[in-house]
Amino acid sequence: AQHFLARAQAHQNLGAFVAIDEATTLAQAKAADALIASGQGGRLAGVPIAHKDIFVTQGFPTTAASKMLAGYQSPFDATVVRKLGVTEGGAGMVTLGKLNCDEFAMGGANENSAIAPVGFDAPQPVRNPWNPERVPGGSSGGSAAAVAARLAPAVTGTDTGGSIRQPASFCGITGIKPTYGRASRYGMIAFASSLDQAGPMGRSAEDCALLLSEMCGPDLDRDSTSLDHPAEDFTLKLNDSIEGLRIGVPAEFFGEGLADDVRAAVDAALKEYEKLGAKLVPISLPRTELSVPVYYILAPAEASSNLSRFDGVKFGHRAQHFTDLNDMYKQTRAEGFGDEVKRRIMIGAYVLSEGYYDAYYLQAQKIRRMIADDFQAAFKDCDVIAGAAAPTTAWAIGGKADPVSNYLADVFTLPASLAGLPGLSLPAGFGNGGLPVGLQLIGNYFAESQLLNAAHRFQ
Ligand code: GLN
Repeated sequence: AQHFLARAQAHQNLGAFVAIDEATTLAQAKAADALIASGQGGRLAGVPIAHKDIFVTQGFPTTAASKMLAGYQSPFDATVVRKLGVTEGGAGMVTLGKLNCDEFAMGGANENSAIAPVGFDAPQPVRNPWNPERVPGGSSGGSAAAVAARLAPAVTGTDTGGSIRQPASFCGITGIKPTYGRASRYGMIAFASSLDQAGPMGRSAEDCALLLSEMCGPDLDRDSTSLDHPAEDFTLKLNDSIEGLRIGVPAEFFGEGLADDVRAAVDAALKEYEKLGAKLVPISLPRTELSVPVYYILAPAEASSNLSRFDGVKFGHRAQHFTDLNDMYKQTRAEGFGDEVKRRIMIGAYVLSEGYYDAYYLQAQKIRRMIADDFQAAFKDCDVIAGAAAPTTAWAIGGKADPVSNYLADVFTLPASLAGLPGLSLPAGFGNGGLPVGLQLIGNYFAESQLLNAAHRFQ
């Protein structure tokens, strides 16, 4: 833990951490030592980890990278944090601190954080360790940068529309979003509840398998969408042969929008899979493009509802100057939320409002179902689906000022999110300028072991 804290300090310029508290970390390390000495520590006991600042944690502030929650201290740990940590029944991992992200996980470049990272006195975009002029991806950009720069051996992330897979891709690491409902959302600050899912990010599929094994499992009393599906040891099949594995290659993932350097790296990775005995099967996911408008209706709709709790009454920021209660709500929300969050709340309130609900929200829900059905049709012909995690490598900081261009860059991660399917991104090679390219593997429900196996064999 001390080694990683020193590295985090030495590489503060990346902006990866928003909270570090050495005393808390070292106290947890002592607790982990005691667990190990008593023979109770599992295989991860004592290994340091850092959490995306979307997970509520005791001992460290939790902000969701929003001014709205600046300085907020949670009285409890998120289920995922508890399962990994040193408290009763946890895996015994030691928390290094909290990681920067886009405000309320809304973004794909980690340029939307409203919290000053450790070592800075104003908010900063997180920097990509491969090239500090580039974004690390988002919204789990601090998580991805921390692993890539070896500031933490393991981290958590959350993925609503790609926020684990896309930053993993941009930073040359591995990350997996499990089947929706396998990891508890309890204590994960909600963005779009029907899509939000926690997952690990690490150097390798093996590390992710170790972490995911601790993170999953039913939490039925605390998360109404938690699945009653047992936890699993995802390391058991890592070394299985992938001879005969049918890899579906969707035509829609290789269209015009795909950058040449990414295409070349993905093609090379697929060739490598053939050498390992896998068979490539051409498939179609005909509504891939529609996943962008569908997601950017449904996610803001859910966000507008979830974020209504930030009204200055129970917790978080409260405006100092106001005339009456309504004005207090207004001023609080005007001051506390950043531009992207406000944009989504407005879009969400609009698509849910009378007269527009049927035209937007309901239509989007119907297409969401069709997207899920398209996957089931595809899985008749293949076992896993492969393509790029993102159409390009990491772009320049400030390079995509227009929100719509940001949204369009999510086109390859959104389909699996909308269908609730597990998805993984693994380093596939490098594009122009030596920037990492991620290969995305999508599996059917509960096929995490298969995805991790396929990724591990490649690595
Ligand atoms: N980039 C997507 C968005 O801005 C995904 C974010 C996420 O998965 N949290 O909504």
